[in-house]
Amino acid sequence: MCWQGSSTWSTLSSAAVDKFGASMRVAVIGGGITGLAAAFELCERADVTVYEPDRLGGKIRTSLFAGVPVDEGPDAFLTRSEAAVGLAESLGLTSQLVAPQAGATLVYVDRHLHRLPSGLVLGVPTDLRALATSRLLGPLGAARAAWDLVAPSRPLGDDASVDDVVAGRFGTKVAKRLVEPLLGSIHAASTADLSAAATAPNLLEAARSSRSLLIGLRKQLPPPGAPRPPIFLSPRGGMSVLVERLVERLDAAGVRFVTRAAASVSAAREPAGALRIDDDVYDAAVLAVGSTDAAAILGELAPSGLGSLRTTDVAVATVSVDRADLHVARDVNGVLVAPSAAMLMTACSFGSNKWPHWTSNTDRMVLRISTGRHGDSRPSLHSDTDLVDILLGELATVMGTNLSAGDWRVSRWPGAFPLYRVGHLSWVRDVRRELAKATLRVALAGSSYDGAGVPACIASGRSAARQVSATVSATSTNS
Ligand SMILES: Cc1cc2nc3c(=O)[nH]c(=O)nc-3n(C[C@H](O)[C@H](O)[C@H](O)COP(=O)(O)OP(=O)(O)OC[C@H]3O[C@@H](n4cnc5c(N)ncnc54)[C@H](O)[C@@H]3O)c2cc1C
Repeated sequence: MCWQGSSTWSTLSSAAVDKFGASMRVAVIGGGITGLAAAFELCERADVTVYEPDRLGGKIRTSLFAGVPVDEGPDAFLTRSEAAVGLAESLGLTSQLVAPQAGATLVYVDRHLHRLPSGLVLGVPTDLRALATSRLLGPLGAARAAWDLVAPSRPLGDDASVDDVVAGRFGTKVAKRLVEPLLGSIHAASTADLSAAATAPNLLEAARSSRSLLIGLRKQLPPPGAPRPPIFLSPRGGMSVLVERLVERLDAAGVRFVTRAAASVSAAREPAGALRIDDDVYDAAVLAVGSTDAAAILGELAPSGLGSLRTTDVAVATVSVDRADLHVARDVNGVLVAPSAAMLMTACSFGSNKWPHWTSNTDRMVLRISTGRHGDSRPSLHSDTDLVDILLGELATVMGTNLSAGDWRVSRWPGAFPLYRVGHLSWVRDVRRELAKATLRVALAGSSYDGAGVPACIASGRSAARQVSATVSATSTNS
């Protein structure tokens, strides 16, 4: 049984089933969460083959560190979209989901450590009193932020940079001391480069729909007193639990896994409209790989701009330190570093505060220090040993303490983060439109297009699966 549990995970059109039954052959290229979600969407309706040369799960990787399972890539998913929560439910994992136990975050700006004030949405304030008392902006910065309430509205086009949207309303201090460390570290890029439409659509919507951005954002919040579900969730055993359970279900449904890379997709001679993938013939394909890989695989079918998306290398140093050395309260889940500090470290997650099951020893803490920003090649120039030394030294400076690592490891993720520049969504529309002209039987899915987070990838894989299935179904009905 594939999608079940949540009624919102509806299944494919019955036309596809009636016409093809299990004979519709679909290739899913890429066995990350996008490809696996696509296969899960299709597995009861089609003969599915997943190509994955590496490990299933892609960037989702949980492995043992200091005796406990610790994530090397994503450690949680957002609950705001239904996609990941619904998938976990379909997989019978709801009871295993846990929320982070620490809710406070620190930010390091101008050599000072501050707690982020309450009421922020992606770093944008919705509570001016909390902002004024936090001392993060100073009196002038807080007064400038309050100007948002009375400033005349500014027209915004289809897209703008996050900086433009925020600084135009609240001033540069909010943009650089709050939003840049938060949103910039999530996307490993400067908010001056990031598309608001692609990375913060709710900000753009609030800025467009209301004269004041603060008031527009407040309208999006649940009413006071309404229950607030956790913002993030993760399976207790780490994010790989999601992948393992998904693969079990796919195996049981008869999905075939090919442990090599798909090299090329082209039009097959026979039957008409079919695709050739290396030596095999399929009715349709979902390309759940990054856009550069997709361009290489598609060859002459590839839309002209497909290979042009820029990406950023990131790395995560996981270290174990003495809790007594870190001097951090238990309610603090991590620290963000403003780019103005010119450090390699972009953020550190205090893993054992956030996820208590991440340590087997209460005197030790497991930390994940992140590095990598678009345009900054320094992390890739250092060996793992040097990188850990540098990052731990920077963390010690930020926290005003001395730290030495016990166990440590470095997980490198080359080209892992897509850069969603202003205009990203029109680029996505253009490449999809051009691909549809070449073939309707291939769909592009994953973090290059529809959002970098795990829920967005799940939704993207699922939507691509439905698209190719509907196309095959319609083509066959017409023929
Ligand atoms: C360090 C880090 C932390 C993150 N933190 C979070 C977080 O906390 N929350 C969150 O929601 N998101 C987070 N993300 C983002 C999220 O993990 C990714 O966007 C998502 O997992 C991408 O999934 P995907 O399936 O699209 O791509 P991938 O996981 O990259 O999968 C693509 C797969 O395609 C395979 N492939 C490539 N070429 C071929 C080929 N020719 N043939 C067959 N297969 C091929 C690759 O081997 C790979 O396995 C994080 C990412 C990183 C790197």
